[in-house]
Amino acid sequence: MTVPLLPPTTGSTVALNVEALTTGPRFLRTRSMSRWHRPRSGTRHGNRDCYSAWCGYGIGSSDRAPALTAEEIPDGELVCATCEGRAIGAGQEQQNPDGRQLVFGPRELQPPKTCPGSRRALYAPLPGGTTARCLICSDIHPVRAMGGPYNPRTAITQHPPGPGLVQPCPFHRWRQPTVTNNTVHCTCGRPMPTP
Ligand SMILES: [Zn+2]
Ligand SMILES: [Zn+2]
Ligand SMILES: [Zn+2]
Repeated sequence: MTVPLLPPTTGSTVALNVEALTTGPRFLRTRSMSRWHRPRSGTRHGNRDCYSAWCGYGIGSSDRAPALTAEEIPDGELVCATCEGRAIGAGQEQQNPDGRQLVFGPRELQPPKTCPGSRRALYAPLPGGTTARCLICSDIHPVRAMGGPYNPRTAITQHPPGPGLVQPCPFHRWRQPTVTNNTVHCTCGRPMPTP
């Protein structure tokens, strides 16, 4: 049995051969850890999986020392309270063990309030020249001259993301979308397909 994982968001660059895991073990720890943790996100580097626990610990496995995983905690062993509370609050468990309603919602996973195509030239002009379709969210908005006298440019006006907002990069979400040959992708190179 596995549990769903959150995307492994990061502000750092991520090599294109690193894969974002969507499921992981319910509990895990390295052999040297005194307690069990729960994975929030995970990445695959070749045949090596690395997990990031809700409390912040990184738990990797190597061929020499695989991480220990568990579906249920063996009697008497300890569980990290931060991991347990956040995992349950974020919905990794179907049911709340003690009947209380815990909530935990990492904020950076929400779509942005302003479409990342705003005030940029990521648009397809429409006939007439005064409006364009945003390549990031597919909504139609006016285009205007922006920038100063020495760097004039035309861009689509600021707008909230439309329902056609592209899928996020698993690592960088909607922070760095760009367009090549009419295809939206993250600057790290991963595709950001339309929904
Ligand atoms: Zn933990
Ligand atoms: Zn847009
Ligand atoms: Zn990316």
